[in-house]
Amino acid sequence: EVISVRELAEKMGEDPNKLIADLISLGKFVTINQAIDFETVSKLVEKYGKVAKLEGAEEEEAILEAELEEAEDKPENLKPRPPVVTIMGHVDHGKTTLLDYIRNTKVAEREAGGITQHIGASIVEVDTSEGKKKITFLDTPGHEAFTAMRARGAQVTDIAVLVVAADDGVMPQTIEAINHAQAAGVPIIVAINKIDKPGANPDRVKQELTQHGLIPEDWGGTTIMVPVSAKTGEGVDELLEMISLQAELMELKANPDKKARGVVLEAKLDKQRGPVATLLVQSGTLKVGDPIVAGLYAGKIRAMFDDKGRSVKEAGPSMAVEVLGIEDVPLAGDKFYVVKDEKTARKIAEKRQELARESALEKEKRVSLEDLFAQIQEGEVKELNIVLKADAQGSIEAIRKSLEELSTDEVKVKIIHAGVGPITENDVMLAAASNAIIVGFNVRPDSAARKAAEREKVDMRTYRVIYDIVDEVKKAMQGLLQPEE
Ligand code: GDP
Repeated sequence: EVISVRELAEKMGEDPNKLIADLISLGKFVTINQAIDFETVSKLVEKYGKVAKLEGAEEEEAILEAELEEAEDKPENLKPRPPVVTIMGHVDHGKTTLLDYIRNTKVAEREAGGITQHIGASIVEVDTSEGKKKITFLDTPGHEAFTAMRARGAQVTDIAVLVVAADDGVMPQTIEAINHAQAAGVPIIVAINKIDKPGANPDRVKQELTQHGLIPEDWGGTTIMVPVSAKTGEGVDELLEMISLQAELMELKANPDKKARGVVLEAKLDKQRGPVATLLVQSGTLKVGDPIVAGLYAGKIRAMFDDKGRSVKEAGPSMAVEVLGIEDVPLAGDKFYVVKDEKTARKIAEKRQELARESALEKEKRVSLEDLFAQIQEGEVKELNIVLKADAQGSIEAIRKSLEELSTDEVKVKIIHAGVGPITENDVMLAAASNAIIVGFNVRPDSAARKAAEREKVDMRTYRVIYDIVDEVKKAMQGLLQPEE
């Protein structure tokens, strides 16, 4: 029992008799001086649109929040940091070969015993006209991993390198990669690959990319496109220099002189070493001995290793390190924070585990046609993002046009990705990451997509008549328009 009815009524500024009546309706028969338990208080105040909190708990929570809150960095504390790059593109266009070439020839400080390890990211050092510059490459190429992370709330990529094979040209996954990168607001640098092959036609690739909004610089556009061969290495130096240049333009900066925070890139349970996680530091400097919270788990950094398997003591912004000492295996995409001591780390982890249990299946609110109206009214939605899949390119163009024409001053209808073929898990992850709904025309989701949509609570609808799509979206939108007078 935490509080008497009289005290509660005073706190709430309500008539105690009214509360007694409410309690009776909750099945509790109490007198004014009787104390009631916390659960009952919670239910009762809920009726009045309030949330009950235990005193003390509230205070503790505030301390934990303050612990995680990031003080704004003063500009003079910000220092340039290397870019974090993801390689994307259609299957077999050479993503892995390019990454391997870069890793094998450009890995920083190659030294005896410094064999590249797979930890989830590789740090590369390049000679540019302005001296040596570092670049962090994520080791999992493709937009799938990229978007899965984004769906979990983590954006780690600064620049996307889009690999397009010059003998094959723009293919469905090329377009998918462009849309995924653009939905995330990540700039794209194009690597036109396989120029060593006899059938290579870089100009055709440029021409095709133009149709997807990427105009090469030499044609008056803004997209950097570099012809390369991942096999012979031709053009790779120029590509790396372009990445550094782009990074400079973006003025990527972070404060290295504070407690580290960042994102879990990979994590696994190692039979000998226990939980092992690769952390990408986004700001601050991570040190051996730091107390840490990663996702739901607490820990203390026992050891750190770089991408050459060497033991290191510190890792600054944009560096990725494999760490030992987290009590359990966090998920890729989880955020991590260094906190002031282990006790705090444990408290935050416990609190998070508790919250995770409570909201086990309750996903954050995603857009759906049904409550678009409410969400717009609450100012949560200004754009209706749509992922569109259809059976033919012709239908896509027709549907895109009709849907985009539905845009009003209040809501913009935006097709963030359109493609021919069934609805895939990838489409669902993009929708989840971009708060979009999925519209299928004469196509169905595959079983993985259906499961993912359920799990991620993504609104997915399929149609056989174009008119029905337009009509339904229009109705949802008319529902949200305020009456004129
Ligand atoms: P991914 O699926 O995009 O990772 O593609 P891979 O890197 O596995 O490459 C697919 C195939 O293309 C492999 O057989 C590579 O050897 C080949 N390949 C990749 N880059 C080049 C290149 O620049 N020139 C040539 N001739 N072949 C390449």
